[in-house]
Amino acid sequence: MPHVLLINPWITDFAAYDFWLKPLGLLYIGAVLKEAGYEISLIDCLDRYDEELLEYQQLREPRNRFFKTGKFHREIIEKPHIYRDVPRNYARYGLPLSLFRSKLSHLRKPDVVLVTSGMTYWYPGVQQAINEIRQQWPDVPVALGGIYATLCREHAIQHSGADFVVSGEAELKALQLVDSLCGIKREYKNFPTSLDALPWPAFDLYDRLGFATILTSRGCPLSCSFCASRIVSGPYRWRYPENVVHELEYYVKKLCVDEIAFYDDALLTNYRRHLSVILEKILAINLPVNFHTPNGLQCKLIQEDIAELMYRANFKTIRLSYESANPERQKFDMSKKVSNESFVRAVNNLYKAGYKTGELDAYVMIALPGQTLEEMLWSMAFVHAQGVKIRLATFSPIPGTMDYQRAIEQGLITENTDPLLTNNSIVPIKPKGTNYHTFEKINLLAKGLNQELLNGQIYKDVASLVKYLKRHFTHEEIGGQSNITIPSLVTRNTQLTTNN
Ligand code: SF4
Repeated sequence: MPHVLLINPWITDFAAYDFWLKPLGLLYIGAVLKEAGYEISLIDCLDRYDEELLEYQQLREPRNRFFKTGKFHREIIEKPHIYRDVPRNYARYGLPLSLFRSKLSHLRKPDVVLVTSGMTYWYPGVQQAINEIRQQWPDVPVALGGIYATLCREHAIQHSGADFVVSGEAELKALQLVDSLCGIKREYKNFPTSLDALPWPAFDLYDRLGFATILTSRGCPLSCSFCASRIVSGPYRWRYPENVVHELEYYVKKLCVDEIAFYDDALLTNYRRHLSVILEKILAINLPVNFHTPNGLQCKLIQEDIAELMYRANFKTIRLSYESANPERQKFDMSKKVSNESFVRAVNNLYKAGYKTGELDAYVMIALPGQTLEEMLWSMAFVHAQGVKIRLATFSPIPGTMDYQRAIEQGLITENTDPLLTNNSIVPIKPKGTNYHTFEKINLLAKGLNQELLNGQIYKDVASLVKYLKRHFTHEEIGGQSNITIPSLVTRNTQLTTNN
């Protein structure tokens, strides 16, 4: 039986944390290939439950923080030259290199190796994994797929070292490629065209699972200016609720998982016919599991009924897509998925359902093209004033998105910019007058506000809070003033003027 090795390579970055990371795309491909008769092996460099890794770390269990999230093992490595001025350690996160090599050497020689990829600027980890495979088996074909291979196809062809680069959704493409490399002829006209006809991701390839992840849909019907969902996942489609429930049941009952993260980009779309139905069924069978939504939820869709269902169904991690307090940006760049009013309404609905102050997080985007420091501070203050923790998301220009194009037009990047320079850890696009340390201060202020919140202290006067936050920055850093006025209907406890 032909043997296919699947590899989820390391993350190479200044920081990384395991918020329920699993290579779902690769696991879907693994399931398809398995069903087609291939023998499949998996090396997931980011699997913190790997028995050999735990032995290496002299641990019985991974050091988890909350809900089985935790820090990856890391090895500090030399920084790519491009990062020479960044005053931080650069590391390879995941399996130690020696362990990766040992795993390769103990495997039966594969007929094909499929490597996936995550963020575009993690490509050094991809390169190294492919290089290691080459050292072990110089004549085995290697194919690369995943996000980097999709968004930076030409770069991946030139620099990854793979023999084949597969972009976009790849279940069928991978099967066709592997078949042709193994000399197998097959009819593809019956290959599933709907998500429900695909086999579930091959989580059974893991010896041990701490948590699982699931997709109830793919893609997103909206198109925000910074987001690559459409390019990576294709048009929006959703699965039958029954199929999703059976998959969840399988993870909990057969694979003994008790934490599950939804990876959907648009989990709440059509929720009365989709997520609500799933959750009603989950509640009816009393599944003992916690749920998490690491991707942001669309605030305008969080009505009382779904908030209540999510609370009852044990959604423990709720992240809201707030992004910015600037109404213009909400309207034109964020597909109207959120407004200041709908954010407050969503938060109130979640509180009414049972969530407490400090249990909700909201994404606040910083360093967007054309965004002033003041806009960022307003956004942070507004989120904090609702009793919600601030989760900063630094903008990264993603090829193919509207903001990427804008950044090129504004001369901030070029078509040939090395993906390493789009790493959000280095704040790729900084407003005039700001520098790397400006953003360190923003991070510290956000952490401080979150801590205050957890201590029970909420600053409800948004304008005064912005004024206080601004004191930490120089006149040059503050730069231009934003015209942000928070609508009166949502500012019960706040002043209405910006008091610049
Ligand atoms: S709603 Fe979310 S997933 Fe959809 S386009 Fe906007 S950012 Fe992307």
